[in-house]
Amino acid sequence: MNKDIATPIRTRSILEKYGFSFKKSLGQNFLIDTNILHRIVDHAELHDDSGVIEIGPGIGALTEQLAKRAEKVVAFEIDNRLLPILADTLSPYSNVRVIHQDVLKADVLEVIKQEFKTKQDLMVVANLPYYVTTPIIMKLLEDKLPIRGIVCMLQKEVADRISASPGTKEYGSLSIAIQYYCKAETVMTVPRTVFVPQPNVDSAVIRLLKRDRPIIEVVNELFFFEIIRASFAQRRKTILNNLTNNLEKGKMKKVEIEEALQEVEIDPRRRGETLSIEEFGRLSDRLYPLFA
Ligand code: SAM
Repeated sequence: MNKDIATPIRTRSILEKYGFSFKKSLGQNFLIDTNILHRIVDHAELHDDSGVIEIGPGIGALTEQLAKRAEKVVAFEIDNRLLPILADTLSPYSNVRVIHQDVLKADVLEVIKQEFKTKQDLMVVANLPYYVTTPIIMKLLEDKLPIRGIVCMLQKEVADRISASPGTKEYGSLSIAIQYYCKAETVMTVPRTVFVPQPNVDSAVIRLLKRDRPIIEVVNELFFFEIIRASFAQRRKTILNNLTNNLEKGKMKKVEIEEALQEVEIDPRRRGETLSIEEFGRLSDRLYPLFA
C-alpha cells in the first residue's frame, strides 16, 4: 500500500518521477501535510453518500483524502501536465473523475447533473489557486448550484474579508456578496510550511454554508449589488457622497439620495463599512423606484 500522496517524501518522488515544474501563474502550491488535509475534510462534514467537487487537484493530495470519505469526487484541473500524474496517483480510487477544464469556463451545473445523483449531498472542497480565489467562489455562488456549501483554503487576508462583520476594516462588498448567499466562517489558519512551494502569504480555510434563501429579500438583486459597489467605491467617503458620485451618472440627485437615506433611518454621514446587509437592503429597495 502506497503512502499518502501528501507526505513530503511521496510528493517529492512523484514530482521527480514526472519532472514536474510548478507554474506560479496557476497558483500551484501543493499541500504536503496529511494532518491538515484530514482537518479540511472534517470541516466538510461528508457522509458515505456525499458527492464532492474539487477545484485544482494538483497531484491529488486532497482528492485522495476526499475519495476515502465521499461516494464520488469530481475534480476540475486546468493544467494538462497534471493529468497523467493524477491518473497514476489516483489509480487506487475508482470513485474519482478528473475533468481537464478551467473551472471558470465550465458549466458546473451540467457536470453536476451528469456526474451526481439527483438531490445528492454535494460539497465543494478545494485548496484554491490564489490568483483566482474570489472569481471562483463568486461563480460557484452566482451559478446557484445545488451544493450544501464550500470548504476551501485561500489567502488569510481574503478569508478575513469574507467573514468580516460591519464596522471592521475588513468588511466590504466581498463580505456582503458572500454573506448574502452563505453563513461564512474561518475555521482554520494554516502555516506556509505545509505547502510546496511555500506561498508568500498566510492561508486560512473558510467554510461557507449556503442559506436556503438569501439572508434578505430585495426587490432587485442586481441593483442591490450596484448600491453596494457604489457605497464602497471610495472607502473614506460617506455613503451619501459615494452614492452621489458612483451610481450611474445623472439618474439620481444628491437631495433625493439624502432624503431616501433619512427615510430608511441611515445617517447620510455614515460610511459604507458601518452598514449591515439589512440596511443596504432597505436602502436599495427605497432607491430602486427612482432608478428604474
Ligand atoms: N489540491 C492540490 C493540493 O492541495 O495540493 C493543489 C492545489 S493548488 C493551490 C491549485 C491547483 O489549481 C493547481 O493544481 C492548479 O493547476 C489548479 N488551477 C489553477 N487555476 C485553475 C482553474 N482556473 N481551473 C481549474 N484548476 C485550476
